[in-house]
Amino acid sequence: MTTEPTTLDSTLVLIKPDAVQRGLVGTILTRLEARGLLIRAIRSFVFTDELVREHYAHLAGRSFFPDVAAFMKSGMTVAVWVSGVDAVDVVRGMVGATNAREAMPGTIRGDLAVSTQRNLIHASDAPDSAKAELARFFPDGPSAPADPAAVRAAYSQAEAA
Ligand code: ADP
Repeated sequence: MTTEPTTLDSTLVLIKPDAVQRGLVGTILTRLEARGLLIRAIRSFVFTDELVREHYAHLAGRSFFPDVAAFMKSGMTVAVWVSGVDAVDVVRGMVGATNAREAMPGTIRGDLAVSTQRNLIHASDAPDSAKAELARFFPDGPSAPADPAAVRAAYSQAEAA
């Protein structure tokens, strides 16, 4: 078995139904890849009620939850396993503020969206939630071990030891 650098961690990205409908799947994947992050697995699916309740449990009591649930079930979602050094923070930084109107230019939401709800993308907010969310959407783990050559191309030896 290949041993991965211990500094490499992973996060979950969901490309939401609005992004799929607007034809932005490729753009979002390109931005992740162009940054140097490693895409380790991809799958598409449609959210069920149960999955929305599990994934957005922290929003269960909020008045807008039924609307979010309807939106998330409205079409296909693309789940992506993304790895990199400090991947959770790096990807959250690329995603931008929840309200896309307040998201900084240069972020995915700040460049491509104008809505709080239809904000294109979900990314795990902490290493613990990343672990739980990756297990939820990719129970069999990533499709392949991290390619050592790809890791070496993106990071110095010291960064990805
Ligand atoms: P984030 O996706 O930035 O981590 P949250 O976890 O707080 O944000 O919210 C999850 C998702 O619920 C948001 O991405 C957005 O689609 C939706 N949402 C959050 N707040 C609102 C709101 N006030 N009105 C409508 N939808 C919201």
